[in-house]
Amino acid sequence: MITLTNIHKSYQMGTNSLHVLKGIDLEIKQGEFVSIMGSSGSGKSTLLNILGILDNYDQGEYHLDGKLIQNMSERNAAKYRNETLGFIFQSFNLISFKNAMENVALPLYYQGVSRRKRNALALEYLDKLGLKPWAEHMPNELSGGQKQRVAIARALISQPKVILADEPTGALDTQTSYEVMDILKEINKDGISIIIVTHEHDIAAMTDKIIKLKDGYIGDLIINGDLANFKKSYAKELQPA
Ligand code: ADP
Ligand code: MG
Repeated sequence: MITLTNIHKSYQMGTNSLHVLKGIDLEIKQGEFVSIMGSSGSGKSTLLNILGILDNYDQGEYHLDGKLIQNMSERNAAKYRNETLGFIFQSFNLISFKNAMENVALPLYYQGVSRRKRNALALEYLDKLGLKPWAEHMPNELSGGQKQRVAIARALISQPKVILADEPTGALDTQTSYEVMDILKEINKDGISIIIVTHEHDIAAMTDKIIKLKDGYIGDLIINGDLANFKKSYAKELQPA
């Protein structure tokens, strides 16, 4: 589904250049649930932005669903994003003056779907996430967990092949974080690939594969069988205080 080959990315600041990604090779298959970990500033968001066609890279190749993503016009990038990708953010990114249903329906507005049809579909997706009674409520009337479920419904409505989530549980308490992860696992069972950035080991341990970014490279790739070891090594952190 996703293949990165020797991806490099630098940020230019005046005469200084910050080399953030120094040759990333990565393959993520359809239906995989992957987490990206790494210390603050290690390039997790940079990598996710490249995967999300929100930012360009300087060198290498990025193939998404068989297509080379390179030097795309903003118009093409937006079209491809809308067709293929769903986004979930730490801070939910709901539009404050639109109700839950309208927020969920938004991606379909950009696809030119009629209001009637997109609102009907939005209600279906809200229902799937147990939020139908909240359809007419504004974001500021919802709890953090409810807001994230609205955001998940919004990510799902355009039937993406891949969901990208930057710290989707970062603003939630532990219990709510686990609920959100359970929802993502259910979604993943339908064959949608999911890539989350997290710095929480217990959250990462719920995914199939953990990618550790370090000094601009992929430091560790912890896969399936090794996950048991990974969990063991962080068992102390997982224990309640
Ligand atoms: P992470 O998400 O792992 O915390 P980021 O990908 O956000 O890391 O950032 C990696 C490095 O690149 C950091 O040192 C950050 O300050 C820098 N950086 C990120 N975005 C930009 C930008 N738009 N311009 C300049 N520097 C940036
Ligand atoms: Mg980040």
